[in-house]
Amino acid sequence: MINFYPGPSKVYPDVRNYLVDAYDEGFLSTPHRGDQFVQLSRELVGLIKRRLNIPQDYYIFFASSATECWEILVQSLTKNKSYHIYNGSFGEKWLQYAQKLRPKSEGYAFDLNSPMPVHELQVSPDTELICFTQNETSNGTQVTPTCILNLHNRFRDTLIAVDATSSMAGLNLKMIKADIWFASVQKCFGLPAGLAVMACSPRAIFRAKQMGERAHYNSMVSMYEKMLNYQTTHTPNVLNLYLMKRVLEERPFIKTIDGELTARAQDLYAFFAQFTDIQLLVENEEVRSKTVLALQGSEKVVDELKKRALHHNIRLGNGYGPWSRNTFRIANFPAILDEEYEELKRFFLHYYA
Ligand SMILES: *Cc1c(COP(=O)(O)O)cnc(C)c1O
Repeated sequence: MINFYPGPSKVYPDVRNYLVDAYDEGFLSTPHRGDQFVQLSRELVGLIKRRLNIPQDYYIFFASSATECWEILVQSLTKNKSYHIYNGSFGEKWLQYAQKLRPKSEGYAFDLNSPMPVHELQVSPDTELICFTQNETSNGTQVTPTCILNLHNRFRDTLIAVDATSSMAGLNLKMIKADIWFASVQKCFGLPAGLAVMACSPRAIFRAKQMGERAHYNSMVSMYEKMLNYQTTHTPNVLNLYLMKRVLEERPFIKTIDGELTARAQDLYAFFAQFTDIQLLVENEEVRSKTVLALQGSEKVVDELKKRALHHNIRLGNGYGPWSRNTFRIANFPAILDEEYEELKRFFLHYYA
């Protein structure tokens, strides 16, 4: 089965052997306060920074999911409120969780085809955290580097947090332009679910210490203190950390991967523009995601396509949220091979012939 689902998505085939290695090397029962773990964790932190182009002075943390990162950030970096700019389901969910913990948190919804409207945002002075989703997996849109730069320049005194779950480890993100970046690993990392990586600027850690919130097992200050010794507050997903180390060791630098994904996205968008039954959901090229393509059609067309694809051992991603029935999605993630996209194209050409 060729899997184009945008998460959980295809894992690197090498993971199969790494699983056995993890067993043989004793990682599955190693204590998380012991040397073997600490060495793994230290090496991994260095590797993540080098391979993903994360500034040297940023801090790396491990959590179990992007959803957990949403919660950690609200708990530990806001007392009053956060401000969420969103155009799709994941960004909106983050806002909803924030409002449960900090009812004054605010949201600003923008249109699917518009760039993030940085100049229109009204962020009150008591806002402690600005949040947005770099790549909205639900509808296949992205916030461009220019918009991120503008946001950074306009709100220099406020911490900015970015959900980059479906782009981190795929795109060469300019991490220096925001304080917090996070992603779970079942998307561009090509790993099984159950682990997330979070990168934080020194300024974010400074604020966390100032707030001194320690009411949770995953409070940021506690995570920071443990990570000074490359440890976690609780027993982490050691297996997945091991897998991540092995996978990252074999990967090219993020700049190379970004170039490849960008070219492949262009090729795929051009390819899918030729069919009359299906349209690209996002009309504005500038805000189209490079890592998740969303295609739109009537419910009947979409349903039929997905079924026929499955019949040919091709799994297309379902639509999500309000777009669940009239769209399908195609992941453009690093672990998926060019030949698999050729197979996908052959299927569509044959199907519409
Ligand atoms: C998949 C996804 C999430 C949720 O990830 P979990 O690991 O299930 O918490 C959050 N945000 C975005 C943008 C996603 O694509």
